[in-house]
Amino acid sequence: MSAQDQQVSQPLLEARNVSKIYGGKVACGNVNLSLYPGEVLGIVGESGSGKSTLLNCLAGQLVPEQGEVLFHTRNEGVVNLFSISEARRRLLSRTDWGFVHQSARDGLRSDVSAGANVGERLMAVGARHYGQIRAEASDWLQRVEIDIARIDDLPRDFSGGMQQRLQIARNLVTRPRLIFMDEPTASLDVSVQARLLDLLRQLVSQLQVAAIIVTHDLAVARLLAHRLMVMRQGQVVEEGLTDQVLDDPQHPYTQLLVSSVLQA
Ligand code: ADP
Ligand code: MG
Repeated sequence: MSAQDQQVSQPLLEARNVSKIYGGKVACGNVNLSLYPGEVLGIVGESGSGKSTLLNCLAGQLVPEQGEVLFHTRNEGVVNLFSISEARRRLLSRTDWGFVHQSARDGLRSDVSAGANVGERLMAVGARHYGQIRAEASDWLQRVEIDIARIDDLPRDFSGGMQQRLQIARNLVTRPRLIFMDEPTASLDVSVQARLLDLLRQLVSQLQVAAIIVTHDLAVARLLAHRLMVMRQGQVVEEGLTDQVLDDPQHPYTQLLVSSVLQA
């Protein structure tokens, strides 16, 4: 079977009927999706529509009330994220996928250097040779356009854009096949956003890493995602290829979202 056939037949991640409820309110309800290797899925919708809740369930960080998430792991075949222990889930989150948060506060360790933020991920997957870890960390700092002279600095002394780029290096250094991103550019100035988006687009395509990116910004979705899911009040109201959804939206809510961007 060719690599391409394998891609077609084997989803990397599958969600079946995932629902998360907070105090009787459905934050995300009955969500189904399949993500294939190398694919970039955008989840869009207004603030409060359930995007982050869904993403956290998919990444095993929140346990849904209902449904299952199946992940095709590197070494253990397909696992149901919620029928394994929390400890195993946490380990997989370091070895098999990455998570880039909106805020560097949630995605970086502020008390260790930039180099260590990248290097500790390599150690989590078994690297032990200090020289190699440092060399690989500096290589990754360069790949995300951070001056290696800053390798021993603490992330809190970095600009917002640099912090996000460091988060990306920390997450990609172990070469996961999937990276989750929650509004990765939302806390940045517009000019800084553009540079980060460019870099993300380059890296995702170079590394052929699959990604699920949550954004309220349709321009970000347009630039990065192959496929889109539109959420409203916890439900998926429309999904399809990015250009189709944005150029010819079918659901009235998507039409509203797209037209409000045009007017903005
Ligand atoms: P989005 O990321 O699209 O802005 P969220 O997933 O953060 O939306 O939130 C979806 C809904 O779930 C919102 O109504 C929000 O108020 C609610 N919600 C999210 N997190 C919690 C929580 N920890 N406790 C209670 N309600 C929550
Ligand atoms: Mg959110």
